[in-house]
Amino acid sequence: MTGAGMSADAGVPTFRCEGGFWKNHRFEDLAHPDGFKRDPDLVWDWYRERRLCVASSAPHPGQRTIALLQRHYPEPGQVLIATTNEDDLLERAGVAPVIHLHGSLFDTICSGTCGWRSSDDRDNSLSMMPCPRCGAAVRPGSVWYGESLPRAPLQAIAHFNPDGCLLVGSSCLVQPAAAIPSDLVAASAPVVEINTEETLFSPIASCSIRGTAKDVLPGIVDLLTSRTVQDQKRRVT
Ligand SMILES: [Zn+2]
Repeated sequence: MTGAGMSADAGVPTFRCEGGFWKNHRFEDLAHPDGFKRDPDLVWDWYRERRLCVASSAPHPGQRTIALLQRHYPEPGQVLIATTNEDDLLERAGVAPVIHLHGSLFDTICSGTCGWRSSDDRDNSLSMMPCPRCGAAVRPGSVWYGESLPRAPLQAIAHFNPDGCLLVGSSCLVQPAAAIPSDLVAASAPVVEINTEETLFSPIASCSIRGTAKDVLPGIVDLLTSRTVQDQKRRVT
């Protein structure tokens, strides 16, 4: 499970680490339905800047190594990659599928009730026009504060029963995603945290490693996929 710290290594700003502001506007106000109602142009300016920033960033070795881990365990249900990040860096690193708990940065959706959605508004062209189905204003497709998480990703996680979890660059502050690693610890599953800073989760993690995802993950994935670990696992089972 990955959070903002994973993408920060690729140059994507983590708003929490930078005081939670963009041009004197609080992150929580911009990523909120009321903020969009108040000033849709401002919210769109913020999203267009973020889309541009992500489009000009490249996946780092930590993200590419997750693709290797997924390929090493190809059976369905062996490895599940979930993220609270909205960028597509994991996908561009070769990870598929990726469970996006908070939606995708490149989604543009109808702000009305018709249900229109596009998941590929990289050039922002769809953000400039009204909803093609009903004529209402369009908005970014991210899950905002005060909104429910989409049901499909939550169901995918609920049906996954892991032996353990790698928690990478996540401050574990936003519910319900924050409950996932805690629930695993409560169920006695090992959860290894990788973060540059101590978090609220650090004291209860099975192991908490200080470092960046791009530095630490390649070594861990190498270990997880090594013959020695595979042999140990076979002996235990
Ligand atoms: Zn519509």
